[in-house]
Amino acid sequence: MKVLVINAGSSSIKYQLYQMPEANVLAKGVVERIGEAGSVLSQKSDSKEHVFETEIKNHKQGMNLILETLATGESKVIDDIQDIQAVGHRVVHGGEEFSGSVVIDDDVIASIEKFADLAPLHNPPNLTGIKAAQENLPNAKQVACFDTAFHASIPKVAYMYGLPYDIYEKYRVRRYGFHGTSHNYVARRAAEVLGKDFKDVKLITCHLGNGCSITAVKDGKSIDTSMGLTPLEGVMMGTRCGDIDPAIIFYLKDKGYDVDEINKMCNKQSGLLGISGKSNDMRNLLEAVDEGDKQAELAVDMFSYRIKKYIGMYFAVLNGVDAIIFTGGIGENSTPVRERICTDLSAMGVKMDTALNDETVRKEGKISTEDSSVNVYIIPTDEEYAIAHDTFELTQ
Ligand code: AMP
Repeated sequence: MKVLVINAGSSSIKYQLYQMPEANVLAKGVVERIGEAGSVLSQKSDSKEHVFETEIKNHKQGMNLILETLATGESKVIDDIQDIQAVGHRVVHGGEEFSGSVVIDDDVIASIEKFADLAPLHNPPNLTGIKAAQENLPNAKQVACFDTAFHASIPKVAYMYGLPYDIYEKYRVRRYGFHGTSHNYVARRAAEVLGKDFKDVKLITCHLGNGCSITAVKDGKSIDTSMGLTPLEGVMMGTRCGDIDPAIIFYLKDKGYDVDEINKMCNKQSGLLGISGKSNDMRNLLEAVDEGDKQAELAVDMFSYRIKKYIGMYFAVLNGVDAIIFTGGIGENSTPVRERICTDLSAMGVKMDTALNDETVRKEGKISTEDSSVNVYIIPTDEEYAIAHDTFELTQ
């Protein structure tokens, strides 16, 4: 069975075509700059790469071009687009309604629309991707996989904010959490690697990419996570500030900033970028640190310190931990950041093997010493595979 995985953003559509259940990737690609000048599709299959620069006005056209690229010309990997029997969509916000992936029907679409005010940058383009896929592949089943779903198990004591209760009742203001597909995937894989039942492990999973979140996993479930109502809360990220005193917002308002400016500041101009004044990209910052840039060093140190703090909190929440897992672009690649986070955690039973840390880059592996009572692992995430897996399971 061929399953197409779609991750539609505001001006891009990422895709991967799988042969399931073998999980062979037949092709992967991305359409970028939809509705802008210079729109382009690039696709990789086997060792071949194809790039098509052409006007792509909207997501429907983008989806058309993806299907044409998959089924015709030199880039062809399937004979007929109707061979695609199912499409799995990444959807960011599923509110309180979805605790797992679902086959999309009119009610699911209405819910994704309803939660758009909680994820205005993500749910509308996700929905556009679903509609474009439905129009182009009317016979294929469509499945939604929510970033929030894995966190549906977080108990009320952890998901409530200390605001008046009616704010939750009226507006559903609470912690939802994100990156759930990734946390779920690496946590399950960690249990396999540890040779334990998923229901019997206590894990802290650290998804560190441009967006970052930390999750506490117990009894096979997420029991707390650092992102909240939106992906702004938690650790410091590439351009997002993470946790701040909410009174800072009122203070800045009194100083003359308007709410939109503060929103932009917190989401787009803070974090690694805001502190370093240089870049939101960890690679650039680590180079700058090597060249003696003090602001870059502060940014990397703050980033690592805040992650360490969350690990300590979740150690307490879980009452001990079997393994800490690093994943995402920074988690999988950035040895100096992992070292900063894991140094001086011996009282918690964490001892990093610096040689293993240095050699474990973009691959699975253990980076703690044999006598470390808490294991530390790198587990590369694979959200696309997780979506393909759920889509296959729900539609075969
Ligand atoms: P993601 O959002 O998961 O793609 O992760 C993006 C982040 O990973 C960026 O901050 C990158 O700088 C970082 N990253 C990717 N490769 C490396 C690397 N080799 N060393 C350090 N950071 C990296």
